[in-house]
Amino acid sequence: MKKAVEELAALLKSSFKGDLLQPGQHGFNEAGAIWNAMVACTPALIARCADTADVQTVVRAAAAAGILTAVRCGGHSLAGFSTCEEGLVIDLTRMRHVTVDEGNRRAQAEGGCLLASIDSATQRAGLVFPAGVVSHTGAGGLILGGGTGWLTRMFGMSCDNVARFTLVAADGSIVRASSSENTELYWALRGGGGNFGVVTQFELQLYPLTSVLLAGGFCVNEDIFAVLQFWRRFMPGAPDELKWNLSLRLAPDLPAIPAALRGRPVLSQSLLWSGDHAKGRQLVDHIFSVGNPGGVSKNVLPYLALQTMADAEFPHGRRYYTKSGFFEALDDDSIFHMLNSLATVPSANTQIELAYLGGAAGRVAASETAFGDRSAPFIVNLLADWSSAENDAVSIAWVRELFGKLRPAMKPGVHVNFMSGDEQDRVHEAYHERWDRIVAVKSHYDPKNFFRLNQNVPPLHTPSKR
Ligand SMILES: Cc1cc2nc3c(=O)[nH]c(=O)nc-3n(C[C@H](O)[C@H](O)[C@H](O)COP(=O)(O)OP(=O)(O)OC[C@H]3O[C@@H](n4cnc5c(N)ncnc54)[C@H](O)[C@@H]3O)c2cc1C
Repeated sequence: MKKAVEELAALLKSSFKGDLLQPGQHGFNEAGAIWNAMVACTPALIARCADTADVQTVVRAAAAAGILTAVRCGGHSLAGFSTCEEGLVIDLTRMRHVTVDEGNRRAQAEGGCLLASIDSATQRAGLVFPAGVVSHTGAGGLILGGGTGWLTRMFGMSCDNVARFTLVAADGSIVRASSSENTELYWALRGGGGNFGVVTQFELQLYPLTSVLLAGGFCVNEDIFAVLQFWRRFMPGAPDELKWNLSLRLAPDLPAIPAALRGRPVLSQSLLWSGDHAKGRQLVDHIFSVGNPGGVSKNVLPYLALQTMADAEFPHGRRYYTKSGFFEALDDDSIFHMLNSLATVPSANTQIELAYLGGAAGRVAASETAFGDRSAPFIVNLLADWSSAENDAVSIAWVRELFGKLRPAMKPGVHVNFMSGDEQDRVHEAYHERWDRIVAVKSHYDPKNFFRLNQNVPPLHTPSKR
């Protein structure tokens, strides 16, 4: 494989406008590093494309030579799919240009954009695109997998807000997909991940918003259970403007957190209100009347501050492992399993994240996107986050054990954005009743499974291989 990639590099030299980086060259190590240190690999070539024509050139040449190929946007794949051992990485990091059409509330974002690239361009026009919560995440992977964040209940998932995709398919051709062109591909790209080709441009739907109300607080002991019960009763009837996220974790050692809470098992609450601030304050006060929260904060924030406030909490280069699932209803037994596991949490940054979807995202019909059914609105993400390789086994085991206990009460299904690299057996579950439809689209646009470093949907008649 290494020799074939070297030949590919030599072949590309005459026509490729971007950068071709090989091991040992200046900038290679930096370009090859991905966010999750657990899944680090050393590719034999990184082809950092300058434009769509470069993407076409490299896809055609690599597909013809049968070279194992990864696609990299922000490098945040929890599973590590944006790199590979001794293969090729198609790197989109030079393709981060965004143009905003303020009048039509649309943006054209190149395929390598980070969330920060989109937020900074759209906020200049007082507009937002609903995406994730950490600005150094790649928009490419996030949107293609579905995409949830602070504004999901207000404006829908990220994939619900793409009007048009421009894609380089496995044969190197450019294909456009929208509600009126290549409609099956348009359906598949909204939740089907990187299975169908390299998206070089997203046309995004935008909304006016420049500031939000954000409130936070921490509960301990039996108040945790009381708040969880209140949350699961309250959220199904909550206004779309409210996103109320919860996290079971050890309270961080930070100045903003009361000294008496630091290091203790807590329920950390984050409430985001994206409507009228006065109305939001009333709702937050009502919610905080339950569970005696400590360390309460309520602030009106510029949207860009909201989008970057968690950046330092999830740095590049640490070790991460995750498992995720949906519940139609959150039962007491599942809550008890989470609380019991909190007592043995293996590291200070490991957490059990709880979110409620619904709102605008919940009103999209199951058949409209490959992301599919949104009728199980409670989401649980188990995220282990640690620094040293010697803690790999204990951290992974903690996630797996808790997931095993929660699994029987979950509704089959998973958001591919929060899957690890050892969950290929859950890809079918992610698309379950939509499986034949997504396989048909894959078989049409990528019949040889050239784009297979992803939560892979194998085409008909081609065995999946890594
Ligand atoms: C710190 C952090 C915060 C996160 N927060 C959220 C969140 O709030 N909401 C949420 O929904 N998810 C979130 N995620 C999960 C995230 O959406 C996925 O990990 C996603 O794959 C990251 O996208 P990326 O472009 O950075 O990934 P990369 O690692 O660059 O790529 C991952 C895969 O996406 C595909 N891909 C990426 N770009 C393209 C493209 N232009 N064309 C074709 N295929 C492409 C490829 O298959 C590639 O293998 C978060 C992840 C991290 C690490």
